[in-house]
Amino acid sequence: MAHLSDPVTILKGVGPARARQFAALNILTLRDLICHFPRGYEDRTKLVPIASLETDVPACFRATVMNTPRTAHIRKGLDLTKVQVADHSGRLNLTFFNSRFAAENLQYGREYIFYGAVTGDFIGYNMTNPVFETLDSAPVTTRRVLPIYPLTAGLSNAAVLKAVTQALAICDAPAEILPESVRREYGILPAQEAYEAIHAPKSMAQAEQAKRRLIFEEFFVFSAGLSLMRAARAEKRTQAYERLELTDFYAALPFTLTGAQQGAVQDIVRDLGRGAPMNRLIQGDVGSGKTMVAAAAAYLAARNGRQCALMAPTEILAEQHFESFSRLFGPLGITVGLLTGSMTAKQKRTAREELEGGTVQVIVGTHALLTEATQFSNLGLVIADEQHRFGVAQRSRLSAKGEDPHLLVMSATPIPRTLALLMYGDLEVSVLNELPPGREQVDTFLVGESYRARINAFIRKHVSEGHQCFVVCPAVEENEELGVKSAMVWADTLQQTVFPDLRIALLHGQMKGAEKEAAMTAFARGEANVMVATTVIEVGVDVPNATLMVVEDADRFGLSQLHQLRGRVGRGKAKSYCILTTHNRNPETLQRLKALCKTTDGFKIAEEDLRLRGPGDFFGSRQSGLPAFRVADLSMDLETLKQAQAASARWIDDHGTEDTPEALALRDRVQELFSRAEGTMN
Ligand code: ADP
Ligand code: MG
Repeated sequence: MAHLSDPVTILKGVGPARARQFAALNILTLRDLICHFPRGYEDRTKLVPIASLETDVPACFRATVMNTPRTAHIRKGLDLTKVQVADHSGRLNLTFFNSRFAAENLQYGREYIFYGAVTGDFIGYNMTNPVFETLDSAPVTTRRVLPIYPLTAGLSNAAVLKAVTQALAICDAPAEILPESVRREYGILPAQEAYEAIHAPKSMAQAEQAKRRLIFEEFFVFSAGLSLMRAARAEKRTQAYERLELTDFYAALPFTLTGAQQGAVQDIVRDLGRGAPMNRLIQGDVGSGKTMVAAAAAYLAARNGRQCALMAPTEILAEQHFESFSRLFGPLGITVGLLTGSMTAKQKRTAREELEGGTVQVIVGTHALLTEATQFSNLGLVIADEQHRFGVAQRSRLSAKGEDPHLLVMSATPIPRTLALLMYGDLEVSVLNELPPGREQVDTFLVGESYRARINAFIRKHVSEGHQCFVVCPAVEENEELGVKSAMVWADTLQQTVFPDLRIALLHGQMKGAEKEAAMTAFARGEANVMVATTVIEVGVDVPNATLMVVEDADRFGLSQLHQLRGRVGRGKAKSYCILTTHNRNPETLQRLKALCKTTDGFKIAEEDLRLRGPGDFFGSRQSGLPAFRVADLSMDLETLKQAQAASARWIDDHGTEDTPEALALRDRVQELFSRAEGTMN
């Protein structure tokens, strides 16, 4: 018996060259090979009479060869072999290109099973290059459900199938990690059966069952991993904070916290007083007031003699937080520092010295906080703003600068509950589902191209009133294929022909980090009237003077994304507007966009997005925080995800830390999955 960790080269027919081809697909071991799942199947199980063959639909049929195959040499490199076959229902002419095999093996008078598609023209039907097998041969290319594998140059489907079949014959499938009780409850195939069936299903239905099992397994392992992480953290001990009084803090605030903010602060107070590290996510729509909730946590850390680090994804956000924290904490006698990459070496040194000496209690910064040189005297609380910008590695690098400090993560991306569990399953969640009072809604309109002149006039009106505008385009550069507005070209058009007298700025993802910062900072300072941008402006920069956002080709964006974008305006006192433009006339698309005009509830919008477009948007470029699932497709398999989550949560609670073979195997798999995802996990 071979072992799963053996190299593929122990298989017959797999030499160094073939092994290199497998390596190109990341297949090194038998385990990799067995986990190289088909991307689809061809159902070749049914035999069809020749008369029932449909044009261009491949199918299997059983037929007798009616003449001796004739091969004609057409020109150099092109031999054609022709033969006629028949069954009780009709006759069919077959043509093979350069097939010595067909010429030599098809025998007059014998019966074979063929698989191919007829092509028809007015002269008659014909079939080109069908595969065929004799009736007594084992079914390999006909009379079966054929798995279709992801391939690479030089590696044929048949070669992969042969290797996989061999591997399954000489070693056991990966160990069973789904507890029997769970399998029974959800009607899930056992591991051995599923791994065999995914590569050699007896029917399409069995292939589906096998796939469901493997998807369930992936979700189960992932959810179990999150539960285990949470359980492990819950075991950790820190000193419980004793001074949890917030009266002075509340008195220093320029406003009363909303009910949702108060609720989140209460959650934090409870966490900090418990004697275990806090791991909390604050999820709240743009403008819901997450910063002040974070400030409450920072205040408590300071009052309990601990330092707090607030990490922001951009310099400009760090500076904004620094300013609002300084204003708030100054009168309370709490010192606030700033540390960003663009500060001078001397400024940075001073900030670091104060931090190490303990004279700074709250430090606000960017990735500069993570460097070796940054040391704390007593780090007790780490706050990460807009958390999807930070990987788990960075979060833990900052945490490692203290002894199991409390962790508070703030995210402005409303995510439906199911997905939130998947992405943040290791964190407790507080939701801010309420906006501060008196906030005027951003009025949103959907218009077509016929409104262009009015849009331009509207931009000019806002600018002439001293306000600023964002214009968001779906693409950076000109791209004929997409046929949508590009930020570069559109900025140029607006500057050259529409608003030659205004200052138009440009911001897009292909600019360097420092360039982006500079453009954004300049805009925030009022140095341009209109900023033409791609979605890079999505992350929480505050430009209260911006009162109009125009989104070009709005149908190119997801609803949640549009909602995020819209959150960039309406942050000041003046009434703000969002104009969505589209050329699209698809009623469904228009309805989707109109929904956005009607509601400003980010969670509702997220649910709608999930329903209409699947979770792709939530797991797209923005959120890289998930491991690469091998079988599961998050846009298709939500139902299985829910089941697996429920099953794993229950099982981990009851048995997760036992040392039974099942629990051990599961923990091994969790390890394997999470090490594969290293650096990308939240
Ligand atoms: P976000 O959740 O997007 O980070 P912020 O924390 O930046 O939101 O808050 C948005 C704005 O609302 C800020 O100007 C902040 O001062 C203000 N704000 C926050 N909480 C309240 C409140 N309870 N009442 C009034 N204004 C508030
Ligand atoms: Mg914010």
